[in-house]
Amino acid sequence: MSQLEDAATNGEVVDLRPPPKPDEITRFYWEAAAEGRLVLQRCDACSRFQYPPELVCTYCQHEGFEPTEVSGQATLYSFALVERAFHAGFVNQVPYVLAMIELAEQPGLRMLTNILDADPEELAIGMELELCFDAIGEQQLPQFRPAKVLR
Ligand SMILES: [Zn+2]
Repeated sequence: MSQLEDAATNGEVVDLRPPPKPDEITRFYWEAAAEGRLVLQRCDACSRFQYPPELVCTYCQHEGFEPTEVSGQATLYSFALVERAFHAGFVNQVPYVLAMIELAEQPGLRMLTNILDADPEELAIGMELELCFDAIGEQQLPQFRPAKVLR
């Protein structure tokens, strides 16, 4: 019996999303997330943050980074309500909000994420968001939700 069929018999919602697969470049990011922290690459040469993790700085091509924790404060840059799963792993997640958010640390520092704990009707471009985490398998996925305390 598949995981999905098993869940159907029990009336539970099973999380079928594929868990992240940390590699040499992203391991620091997932290890920090497991501790409830959002840590990004910060370039040793130009001091800019970047996301997602890359081999070199996307601004100056320098190869050295300091993993640096960010505040988790962000604003909503763009979003869409996903009502049909585009991957079998997300059939139990729809509808969900897919969003591009901009972190407070640096103009243009954006992350693709989901917005949790929100009524899609109440979302607005520019609204304040805060970091939260969503367990996926054994890992923690950094996500965002409307800020509880407005800045
Ligand atoms: Zn740089």
